[in-house]
Amino acid sequence: MTKERNDKIYEGMFVDATEGILVSNHKGQIILCNPSAQKMFGYTLEEFLTLNIDQLMPMRFQSQHVHHREWYFANPMPRSMGKGRDLYANHKSGEEFPVEISLSHVKNEEETLVVAFVIDIAERKKKDNQLKKANEMLKKASFQLSKLNQELEQKVQSRTLELAEMIKKLTESKKEVDLALEKEKELNDLKSRFISTASHEFRTPLATILSSVSLAGKYVEKNELEKIFKHLDRVKDSVSNLTDILNDFLSLDKLEEGIIKHHPEPTHVYDLIVDLLEMMKGVTKTGQVFNYHDETSNEKVFIDVRIFRNLLINLVSNAVKYSEENKTIIIKTEIKNKKLNVLVQDEGIGIPYEDQSNIFERFYRANNIGNIQGTGLGLNIVKKYIEILNGNITFVSEPGVGTRFLIEIPI
Ligand code: ADP
Repeated sequence: MTKERNDKIYEGMFVDATEGILVSNHKGQIILCNPSAQKMFGYTLEEFLTLNIDQLMPMRFQSQHVHHREWYFANPMPRSMGKGRDLYANHKSGEEFPVEISLSHVKNEEETLVVAFVIDIAERKKKDNQLKKANEMLKKASFQLSKLNQELEQKVQSRTLELAEMIKKLTESKKEVDLALEKEKELNDLKSRFISTASHEFRTPLATILSSVSLAGKYVEKNELEKIFKHLDRVKDSVSNLTDILNDFLSLDKLEEGIIKHHPEPTHVYDLIVDLLEMMKGVTKTGQVFNYHDETSNEKVFIDVRIFRNLLINLVSNAVKYSEENKTIIIKTEIKNKKLNVLVQDEGIGIPYEDQSNIFERFYRANNIGNIQGTGLGLNIVKKYIEILNGNITFVSEPGVGTRFLIEIPI
């Protein structure tokens, strides 16, 4: 093809097209190209016209391209080249650059020509790569962020658990402190109650002792021995009354501190009670008698002697105290169903029905006691002793008729 002819066709082409446009014949010879193609591939028009289109491909694709070209000439139709794979072109300098190519064909009077529209996509690829990289970095960052977030959540969760545990412990120790404070307060109340009760209860026996001693002094002068002994007896009664009160307080204190423990030992119940009643005869009123029925056959039972004695002293001394002169106090012992049952029954003033549910409470005294001395602690102590022995205590009482206490102790 002549230069004049080329120029003619060339004039009709898009000089300003940004795509490189190359026209080749069925042999692959380049017969036309626009300025963009020259710029893209680095060849002048003259150089282009000496080239075959296959030479614009990288070496490794050239032989394949010959077949593609021949096939296209046999089936010419507009289409894009190399769909789904990366295409590369060869620059004059030998450097490869990525391209996008679409093919079309024109027919002139002599032959069919193929028009290739070439776009240099190096810049776009670079941007795509940068975008891809940025995307990957973003993905990485977001993965790390979500990992961090997860770790943070786990930390928050474990800290929350630790905090909850701490709060729980704090609440528990607060409860303990509150309980200890309450106990301390109770103990203080008890002690002040103790002092006021003690000073009140001590007053009468002490006054009795004082008056009896001064009267006895007078009777010494007159040598009235009988009266002296009467007053000495009163002194003895008052002293034993004081001892009772003191014992009550001491027992209560020990019970409160949990010092008293259960130490069972083989014991002859009958012997123990006979001894105890003998001793308690000293506190009976005129004409009062103990009537003891034993059904244990003096069998040895396992029992804490000290606790058992204290229990009985309390119950028997109440029976004496709340009964008038000449009354009988019945004591019964039996062993039944692996339990030692003890009954203490009197014919005394009884316990008013309205007081019966409270008499085991500390300092509680029924309203029919008149001026009979007491602290309201004895039965409370008895109840605590019974608990230590894993036993049980019940009572039946009729005001004006008498009272019957029954204790059951496992042996
Ligand atoms: P105290 O005898 O020192 O008052 P207790 O705790 O031994 O204290 O008894 C509590 C109360 O129960 C007594 O004040 C009394 O009202 C009543 N009580 C206890 N035993 C008897 C009894 N055998 N007969 C009548 N009342 C009794």
